[in-house]
Amino acid sequence: MERLRNYIDGVLVAPLGGAYIDNYNPATGNVYSQIPDSDERDVELAYEAAARAFPAWSRTAKEERSALLMRIADLIDAHHEMLSRAESTDNGKPIQLARTVDIPRAAANFRFYATGILHLSSEANSMEETAINYTLNEPAGVAGCISPWNLPLYLFTWKIAPALAAGCTVVAKPSEITPMTAFLLSELCIAAGLPKGVLNIVHGYGHRVGAAITAHPSIPVISFTGGTKTGAGIARIAAPLFKKLSLELGGKNPNIIFADCDFEQMLKMTMHSSFSNQGEICLCGSRIFIERPLYEKFKQAFVEKAKQLKAGDPADDKTRLGAIVSKQHKEKILSYIALAKDEGGTVLCGGNQVQLNGECAGGWFIEPTVIEGLVFDCRTNQEEIFGPVVTLTPFDTEEEVLGYANSTQYGLAGIIWTTNLNRAHRVAQRLQSGIIWVNCWLLRDLRTPFGGMKQSGMGREGGFEALRFFMEAKNVCIKLS
Ligand code: NAD
Repeated sequence: MERLRNYIDGVLVAPLGGAYIDNYNPATGNVYSQIPDSDERDVELAYEAAARAFPAWSRTAKEERSALLMRIADLIDAHHEMLSRAESTDNGKPIQLARTVDIPRAAANFRFYATGILHLSSEANSMEETAINYTLNEPAGVAGCISPWNLPLYLFTWKIAPALAAGCTVVAKPSEITPMTAFLLSELCIAAGLPKGVLNIVHGYGHRVGAAITAHPSIPVISFTGGTKTGAGIARIAAPLFKKLSLELGGKNPNIIFADCDFEQMLKMTMHSSFSNQGEICLCGSRIFIERPLYEKFKQAFVEKAKQLKAGDPADDKTRLGAIVSKQHKEKILSYIALAKDEGGTVLCGGNQVQLNGECAGGWFIEPTVIEGLVFDCRTNQEEIFGPVVTLTPFDTEEEVLGYANSTQYGLAGIIWTTNLNRAHRVAQRLQSGIIWVNCWLLRDLRTPFGGMKQSGMGREGGFEALRFFMEAKNVCIKLS
């Protein structure tokens, strides 16, 4: 059975403790590889390699750093099919999604920051005849990057690319549930000629490897994407150490549908925003609010479409709903469906685990599930489920739906469907979300700020903000004589 290795100081190495964690294929329920069960000793080795590499990398000309990152992007493209298959096997996502979203986006992340760093400028502020100020942006040091399992390579590279472009060296930890493409990336970095120690990837559990990165006294910057509870724990450790923190956390996003929307376009996109990646995207719209005159028509059409969406083998080109990432997560989703029933909800379709045949007989699949009849402030409508489960709630006024939409502890993304431009602006302004899509979903321009309000996070990724996050701004004030 394949054993993955850590990528430390430019080479692939076994964990010092010699222990491994089983890595499952969610579509079959079988262990298909093993990953290092690393500990703080491996993190220390990775840190030391990153610290040794920092002086040279941070002083390497931007153009040279850029060229190296472009080379990594080219290698991702050159291995597009291999990486797509690996991502689909590791995560359970349909191969079609990995091919069209995850892997192209990983290459795009590297290209975006490889070119972005060439365009980052700094400010000068003149105090007329008195003085001139200018700002130096200097790489912050060794950066810690910790990422989740839902969009494995896509979110891993979303952190690593700006950190490396900014001149930081990196100790990174992918999710132990989906380690494969991060491992394959380490092979591509070696092939690209990335200098040793610039990027180090340590595999293992969050409470061991992630915690050691977070608590490391000489790692001044932590970029984390994952659950809100984990993020809160990281903040508790990082705050007294005065680390710079970027936290991209959970969501419970509203999808607000007004009766004047373009119905067909909305319906098609709402299927995607509800069930893409089995609903395991932090930006999915899991609470669907429908203006009352449209409620019955929407409900009928949406449930009809949801019933047609069948879970299938993720490796099949035609599959649009794959496997749930882990057995434990599958149980969590099913427990929320049971809770929804307890809370008085009516399951309009789905609600059950799916039993496939053949190779996927032991896999973890759940039907697309649509629930109505719940009050806006019940647990089902307040807590993140992160699966193919959505609730439907009618509303009569803008004021009412804004109250529902803003009622959760989260504030990551919001979706608005209307052809009334004034209303779109008005509602967008009052929605407590860091990212708002009007008449679309998941349309991404990498220059825009990405992140959440309230308990969905702290700080923003994307654009120059991500580069500046990995840098320290230093003002130099020169008095004019
Ligand atoms: P998670 O919080 O369980 O794990 C995320 C990462 O943190 C993993 O690599 C994990 O090993 C590590 N980790 C766990 N405990 C840790 C600790 N004590 N110290 C340091 N690191 C630790 O999240 P998950 O289940 O992998 O991902 C799903 C969650 O991520 C959902 O809540 C989802 O909304 C969120 N998410 C948010 C965004 C966003 O951009 N806001 C994007 C994707 C996913």
